[in-house]
Amino acid sequence: MTQLPRIALALFLCIQAMPAQSMVSAAHPLATDAGVEMLTAGGSAIDAAIAIQAVLTLVEPQSSGIGGGAFLLHYGSQDDRLQAFDGRETAPKAVQSSHFLDASGQPLPFLDAVPGGRSVGVPGLLRMLETAHAEHGVLPWHRLFEPAIRLAENGFTVTPRLAEMLRLDLPLNAFEPMASYFFPDGEPINAGIQLKNPALAATLKQIATEGANAFYEGPIAQAIVETVQKHGGLLTLDDMAEYQAVERAPVCLVIARNNVCSMPLPSSGGMTVLQILALFEQAKAAFPEATATLQTHLFLEASRLAFADRNEYLGDADFVDVPVETLLSDDYLEQRAALISADQSLGIALPGLNSGQSAASASKLINHSTSHFSVMDSSGNAVSMTSSIEMPFGSRLMVGGFLLNNQLTDFRFDPAAADGRPHPNRIQPGKRPLSSMSPVIAVDSNGQPALIIGSPGGTRIIGYVAQRVAAILMQEQPLKTAVDAGSFINRNGKTELEEGTQAAEMADALKSLGHEIAVQPLTSGLHGIMRLSDGALRGAADPRREGVVGQTPAQSHQE
Ligand code: GLU
Repeated sequence: MTQLPRIALALFLCIQAMPAQSMVSAAHPLATDAGVEMLTAGGSAIDAAIAIQAVLTLVEPQSSGIGGGAFLLHYGSQDDRLQAFDGRETAPKAVQSSHFLDASGQPLPFLDAVPGGRSVGVPGLLRMLETAHAEHGVLPWHRLFEPAIRLAENGFTVTPRLAEMLRLDLPLNAFEPMASYFFPDGEPINAGIQLKNPALAATLKQIATEGANAFYEGPIAQAIVETVQKHGGLLTLDDMAEYQAVERAPVCLVIARNNVCSMPLPSSGGMTVLQILALFEQAKAAFPEATATLQTHLFLEASRLAFADRNEYLGDADFVDVPVETLLSDDYLEQRAALISADQSLGIALPGLNSGQSAASASKLINHSTSHFSVMDSSGNAVSMTSSIEMPFGSRLMVGGFLLNNQLTDFRFDPAAADGRPHPNRIQPGKRPLSSMSPVIAVDSNGQPALIIGSPGGTRIIGYVAQRVAAILMQEQPLKTAVDAGSFINRNGKTELEEGTQAAEMADALKSLGHEIAVQPLTSGLHGIMRLSDGALRGAADPRREGVVGQTPAQSHQE
């Protein structure tokens, strides 16, 4: 044996002896455990994602579930391929442009539109997971539902956050069976009690044995349609049966030598996060001496400009023309970045193409719903998935042990602007409402996924995610430091600073630059994984919610 092969053999044995790491970061310990269980059983990142999501349906019912939709970004290590899977809800075929208008043609108050059947879109989650599993699953489909079925039958401990969400100042006990499940004696259940969900166990068993068809056709679909129609919605069996998940090309830009990729339309998340990062990178280069506070100002200005475009131009590109390439082109971004001043805020930014007035963000309530999780398996495949039923507990309609989404309220309620121009995010039959969900995978210059991250938070998702990607890739902050740091948000209106954090300490300095300031809680739910240059993984779970990181070989690992 010559020298070289012996070294190669030694190296091979050493690699063999060191089991490859895999990791999960998700919003609930039982969901993380389910992911780790699949990874330990030899499952892929997709297998883990499906098990995580099935458990989240049960244990974090306020946020996401099989009655809702999701976006999933997948990195395949074998061919370095990134894919975006779109499981967004669609509007029923029977909707009209007046869907969210009252009898006098005025937009309904947002909270009036949420509960009941009107807000329910065709749930896309299961079809999307099945599509991704057909391509990237290793374990059999039915195996992935075992942890959730076990927990639904045996019971799980209600967390403080679920109990707190049930005490939100919203009408949550208006409909059966949600009322008797969560409010058994007319009072919301308490943290610490054991809760079983036999109806969900039965639903999941059917889906586990028969596949997603069991959901989109037959008795489960029938029950969904009946419930929605009984409560004033337009969903039909045809809408259910015709639902399709869509594989799309991710949107990507090179930021700080990494190829940062996220979800394309119908999520505004990817394009807006990328615009913010590109504008911020250019502004930072233009003002190299900027202090930390001034850098925050530059970031917030980048965010204003990106949101001005988002609010004016973005909608489901399968239905409306959106100038995606222009909005992400070097020339355009250069022009836009040149508007950023280090001395004075832009105030309300205008959109950058020739149409449009001012585009301040419609300010919805603070959203406590939605869930993000990140997974990397031992072969280096990665999943970044954000999943949602929209508002906490969605439409409040419960069928088969799960809640139906209210995702249609993500459409603009008024179909046209004041000047009569139809809005790109108006409701149309079969269309997907514009989302802000921003699952990110950043691939480093060696072609390896370096960062997997995302967050819930309604339209604030975009800022939560962009801030962390910037901190990690441009400012080389460790993942956990970036996740824990106070948030600063601008959606082309006032600047929001997270109460009780260092971000809030910048209030006076930012005010002097012309920002209108609101100091308030900002409940992100960032769950991320970072892969260091030596291949070691680091995970972080947002301390503002209840998530944890899990890994194989087993040992809880937060940086
Ligand atoms: N429905 C929102 C969206 O798709 C997400 C809601 C949330 O994050 O709470 O953008």
